[in-house]
Amino acid sequence: MCFVGLEKASLVDYDGYVSAVLFTQQCNLRCLFCQNTKLIFGKNDIIPWEEIKSFLTKNKNNIDAVVITGGEPLIHKNIIKKLEEIKKLGFLVKLDTNGTNPVMLENILKNKLVDYVAIDIKNDFDNYNYIVGAKQNNNEIVNNIKESIRCVKTNNIPFEFRTTIIKQFHNLSTLLKIAKTISPCPKYVLQRYQFQKDCLFYFQAIEKEEAEKLLKDIKKIIPNTFLRGY
Ligand code: SF4
Repeated sequence: MCFVGLEKASLVDYDGYVSAVLFTQQCNLRCLFCQNTKLIFGKNDIIPWEEIKSFLTKNKNNIDAVVITGGEPLIHKNIIKKLEEIKKLGFLVKLDTNGTNPVMLENILKNKLVDYVAIDIKNDFDNYNYIVGAKQNNNEIVNNIKESIRCVKTNNIPFEFRTTIIKQFHNLSTLLKIAKTISPCPKYVLQRYQFQKDCLFYFQAIEKEEAEKLLKDIKKIIPNTFLRGY
């Protein structure tokens, strides 16, 4: 199975709930700012499913929800079965995805295997391929993400879009383009970038004062826009 990490209790990964966080390994993108390089290169020990299930069962009264994150969870076909099992245990489930597998996402939403979805929108679509480490003439990634946006908007499962904001990539112009692309939507989150030793390259965070100015302008398009990590 694909789970290589388990954070036993988190208060920040699913707003309003105490969650256990399950990390999948490997990713189909190579974002220049990726903070999860240990996960995306996929050389981690897999945690036996029985061990995870046993932890969840024993902590049923302490944990409200399970967050599935990566890497990219939807590159693993067997994630569907695991979502089914987690739902059967009675937990709320949140899925974090980069939005590049709309077919699997639609299947998950139609079968109500998750209760909340967060889709990363890394940049405006004119500059998407560069930031995710893809070839300039590759339309597949952006087309799939557009399809995932349509997919979450047409299924009745709560969702948010989120962008990790970085000085070298994002400014008012790029964020306005993103906001116009994803609007209307129930929630948009601008997340603080944090350089870590595992990051592929060094970039700079957008500081709080600047982020608050950006927030004010983005709220004119998507009123439910928030800062996270500031
Ligand atoms: S989608 Fe996420 S895990 Fe994959 S490379 Fe980008 S930042 Fe890293």
